[in-house]
Amino acid sequence: MKFGGTSVASVQRMRAVADRLIARRTAGDEVVAVVSAMGKVTDELLALAHQITPHPSMRELDMLLATGEQSSIALLAMAVQAAGIPAISFTGSQVGIVTDSVYSKAKILQLDAARVMDALAQHNIVIVAGFQGRTADGQITTLGRGGSDTTAVALAAGVGADVCEIYTDVDGVYTADPRIVPRARKIRRVSYEEMLEMAASGADVLSMRSVEFARNYGVTIHCRSSFTDQPGTIVKEADSLMEDAIVSAVTSDTSEAKITIRGVPDHPGVAARVFSTLAGANVNVDMIIQNISEDGQTDISFTAPETDLHRAGGALEAVISGIGARTWTIDDNIAKISLVGAGMKTHPGITARMFKVLAAAGVNIDLISTSPIRLSCIIAQPQVEVAVRALHTEFGLDASA
Ligand code: ASP
Ligand code: MG
Repeated sequence: MKFGGTSVASVQRMRAVADRLIARRTAGDEVVAVVSAMGKVTDELLALAHQITPHPSMRELDMLLATGEQSSIALLAMAVQAAGIPAISFTGSQVGIVTDSVYSKAKILQLDAARVMDALAQHNIVIVAGFQGRTADGQITTLGRGGSDTTAVALAAGVGADVCEIYTDVDGVYTADPRIVPRARKIRRVSYEEMLEMAASGADVLSMRSVEFARNYGVTIHCRSSFTDQPGTIVKEADSLMEDAIVSAVTSDTSEAKITIRGVPDHPGVAARVFSTLAGANVNVDMIIQNISEDGQTDISFTAPETDLHRAGGALEAVISGIGARTWTIDDNIAKISLVGAGMKTHPGITARMFKVLAAAGVNIDLISTSPIRLSCIIAQPQVEVAVRALHTEFGLDASA
């Protein structure tokens, strides 16, 4: 049972979470809980660090951020114990979550469930800090924003849990962000494949890495509200009960920026140099587009998270004159909108319909990328709501009024 920051934001909510854990235990289940930092604590810690220096050391930043979750687990364990039920809290490091050494976005390499199993055998409710681990040589790492989901799924796989319940402040996965589309509907079941594309394209209910992990280890996720008992959304392997909707969801993402490198010599090896330098600086490149070349020169545009811009800039400065490119520019006033649906594989013409709807809404398309079950366009950020609503209606996703 994983609870996000909002669900443990106050002492009162912490007690409500404790009650939920206890109710489940009393019903006969063995319970492992994973919690995030309280409320906005992670953001506050980040802000503190940036008051000290604009570019804090990554090791120290992880050392700092990991304290948010460490506070939550101790308080939650106290809340359970105060109700007379045995509980014990562990940090990621204590339960043997071993990661690589990429600070602030470490990947889990290994997990030793023995300590959790022992604590369960001693009748404890086991409470584990989300979002953190340690490297093989004992450095504290964090898994990237939203990383507690990944901790929860990894632990669920490690202990062989029946289900990984992710409790959050929304009651499931929707056909679009309900703040943008009031008539968005809750999706009852969704396949890993679709959920992955949705997470990658801006649905922030579940982190992408947690869904990847769940798919790789066959963990069923139940994403549900921490404020009600209503069933939420089940994420699992596609089965015959799931209808292949042509379009299951419309997603949007305003957290990326577009970088364009101008006057790039068009010969073999140039793109390889640019993108390996970016990869070396840990920049998560998303879409890439290269124009047709004129006079042996071309422009390359790509998108990357705004949070990676500083590192991307450094990497480009280092490579730009070496490859003989002219200059580079940044546009962070963009948005990515996407259609996701397993049925797209077998239904031609979706692209044309998408473009027509956007044209009718007066939305200009900048970059386009596709996967077998996703279509994405980069547009101007101020048009994102208009575009998402128009697409949601066009593909029959609006709930009846
Ligand atoms: N507290 C971390 C964050 O805000 C991890 C999480 O909540 O999953 O990103
Ligand atoms: Mg933006």
